[in-house]
Amino acid sequence: MLIDEGRLTAFSSRIFQSLGAPQGKADIVAEHLVEANLRGHDSHGVGMIPSYVYGALRGHLKVNQDTELVQDSGGVMLFDGHLGFGQVVGRQATEQGIERAKSHGMVCVGARNNYHLGRIGAYGEIAAAEGLISMHFVNVVGHAPFVSPWGGRDKKMQTNPFCCAIPTDGEPIVLDMATSAIALGKVRVAGMKGEPVPDGSLFDAEGIPTNDPGALDDGGSLAPFGKHKGYGLALICELLGGGLAGEWTMQDESKQKDMIVNQMLMFFLDPDLFGGVEHFRREVEGMSDWLRSTTPAAGMDKVRLPGDPERESMAERRANGIPIDEQSWAQICDASEKAGVPQADIPV
Ligand code: NAD
Repeated sequence: MLIDEGRLTAFSSRIFQSLGAPQGKADIVAEHLVEANLRGHDSHGVGMIPSYVYGALRGHLKVNQDTELVQDSGGVMLFDGHLGFGQVVGRQATEQGIERAKSHGMVCVGARNNYHLGRIGAYGEIAAAEGLISMHFVNVVGHAPFVSPWGGRDKKMQTNPFCCAIPTDGEPIVLDMATSAIALGKVRVAGMKGEPVPDGSLFDAEGIPTNDPGALDDGGSLAPFGKHKGYGLALICELLGGGLAGEWTMQDESKQKDMIVNQMLMFFLDPDLFGGVEHFRREVEGMSDWLRSTTPAAGMDKVRLPGDPERESMAERRANGIPIDEQSWAQICDASEKAGVPQADIPV
């Protein structure tokens, strides 16, 4: 089915309000999820709703929580999200960090104990819109691991995302990626659609490469992207996001329950501090043009910059609607009933 942005956002917000979230917070979460769908990341869009409903009904996810500034030494701020909606508490920490970076030039922000933060690029885009460079190192804890370290068969970490966003005079450059070969949610989406996952993204229980998304439920593991390099970056995210900013890393098996917690270390930096922002902007623009002018490789249409595919998806989905497969939609509707939304209020 195809559904338009407005109806999907209103329905999603309604579900979160039924769980007890005030409208302002429910709208922020709904808009974040629907934007992830618009940008082509269905893994981090409204398909997360059943998991959020599950988390809220079990008391893991606190639907009316604000972040708390628990330490402040000027250039370093530490926030505790107390397991509030990541889209709300993560945004609050981001906005306060941005304000500080504007007065100090640079700030390092720890944001611990956020329920699922969603698409990390969203926080980088907020900073870029304010003219700041940002970097985000995130670990994922709260449930059993899915990703094997390079060379290993056991699952030891999660999809630990990394993001760096660079402001430009136009659209920002946004590198926003899981450190696994593909995001966990993309395995879920492939399974729902009955499609294979790309080569190199999954191992079965014996450590043999497979394209079957079902292998993950049968003892298989997600591969790190780029072999030892992605594994190394995942470890850095684990240590900076979870060990430094956060309260725990994946090794603490006693804390592996049935929830999704993100802990994030962020840097916000004013590009005007190094030789003037005009110089930097010129370099960014020149480099972007230089790369875009590359002759496409065989079978490719053009060279893109990080952030381009998401913008292309957004333009297409805004015009034509957001596709949602039947199984995902059935699960969202089921979750909405569990949250207390009357069946008659379900769109379509
Ligand atoms: P992806 O592989 O689709 O894209 C990764 C990056 O590569 C993006 O910045 C994209 O713009 C860029 N890119 C893609 N194709 C490109 C091309 N042809 N040329 C240049 N750049 C290109 O993303 P992913 O790794 O599957 O991650 C998806 C989302 O999942 C991200 O938003 C991430 O933040 C999110 N995520 C969240 C969590 C969490 O716990 N909250 C965990 C993992 C991932």
